[in-house]
Amino acid sequence: MDGSIEVDGNTIATRFVQKPWIRNSYLRFEDERLVVVSRSERMMHRVISKHRDWIARHYKEIKSTIRLFDSGSVLHGSNRYKVRHVIHAGRPKADIAGDTLMLYARDSRGAERLIDRITREDTQRIAPGMARSKASLIGAEVKEVKVRKYRKWGACSSEGRITINYCISMLPAELQEYIISHEVAHLKQLNHSGRFWSVVESLCPDYKALRKQLRSYDNRRRAVYVPDLDLNLA
Ligand SMILES: [Zn+2]
Repeated sequence: MDGSIEVDGNTIATRFVQKPWIRNSYLRFEDERLVVVSRSERMMHRVISKHRDWIARHYKEIKSTIRLFDSGSVLHGSNRYKVRHVIHAGRPKADIAGDTLMLYARDSRGAERLIDRITREDTQRIAPGMARSKASLIGAEVKEVKVRKYRKWGACSSEGRITINYCISMLPAELQEYIISHEVAHLKQLNHSGRFWSVVESLCPDYKALRKQLRSYDNRRRAVYVPDLDLNLA
């Protein structure tokens, strides 16, 4: 059952899932919608009023999240581009027209793959070079820079291999620099000690503010809704 509640002046969409056999109710957010699982409507109202603070806090956090992949758009630097798919039988290609990323591909699945491909290619163009030049500033050597699709922004192994998330090219340039500086600093310090952070600072002086900013970004790969002309990916 769908509805909405008012919390701190915000209207939050809700979904009530009734499970008469459960003892304890629980709450979770699915994107911006609050899902309440409870054995009765009365219990649902009770759990909502009991956890108003939790709901308000989480809603605020979710609202301030910047999604790299969102329905109908993708982030690129400080701009958000609408995504449009055009059915195209030849080799898939992408193009920017004003505020729209045009994807020429056979079907929406191909369009989604194309988003991944251009994102990865952009990151591949940026990350290895930047990692090597940052490393040379602190007299460290990078064995390898891998670009990979995963949840973390980056990683560094004790053998000096750096892995960078394939979608950092979608972030503002200063955040890309922070992520790479962070991993390069691990070549000197494989921990998050004070010494580690002073190496990061020498590579990226504004790291404190950038680290905080980065927490607002969500890199989860969602299906980017491709309007008209084609069926959407579920
Ligand atoms: Zn780290």
